[in-house]
Amino acid sequence: SRFDIRRVVEGALQALQVSSKKEVHISRDLPDEPLFIVGDESHLRNVVANLLDNAVKYSEEPVLLHIRLKEDPERVQLSISDKGKGIDPVHQKQIFDMFYRVPEGNLHAVKGFGLGLAYVKQVVSRHGGEIIVRSALGEGSTFTVSLPMKEVLLKKENHG
Ligand code: ATP
Ligand code: MG
Repeated sequence: SRFDIRRVVEGALQALQVSSKKEVHISRDLPDEPLFIVGDESHLRNVVANLLDNAVKYSEEPVLLHIRLKEDPERVQLSISDKGKGIDPVHQKQIFDMFYRVPEGNLHAVKGFGLGLAYVKQVVSRHGGEIIVRSALGEGSTFTVSLPMKEVLLKKENHG
């Protein structure tokens, strides 16, 4: 149903700043007005939370984030940028697969199941949207979620 995505983003950022154990600095580029879209609010809230969780988890302190929310006639775009460890291009496709985690010398230094982005991708595609990553190793990452404005109806899940 219909909800204000700007408010969801603001709420997620507030929750992050209250609960994060790391020092986090956030710059925001959000619309001045509420931005209503049709979709599954609780799943999309989880999408934002998952992307923010990753941005913090895979960054050293102080964590520097830039959050951008923009609308054009066709879509709503949410970008979450960090200046963290980045992702080598050879792994960028696989990070959306279930249980995939970028292999590292010390894989268990940062805990995770490798499920967050698979969930995010699933929710976004059920809204007819897409997610892309732009990242460079050692420089940081930007995850951009695009949700179409016209195809506002949630795709019904296809139970085989
Ligand atoms: P969880 O299930 O708790 O989310 P996870 O964070 O390992 O575990 P995903 O969120 O699916 O799983 O991310 C998959 C992998 O992609 C991560 O293990 C990490 O290697 C890489 N990754 C995701 N986001 C970032 C980011 N912002 N910066 C660097 N690497 C990232
Ligand atoms: Mg994660």
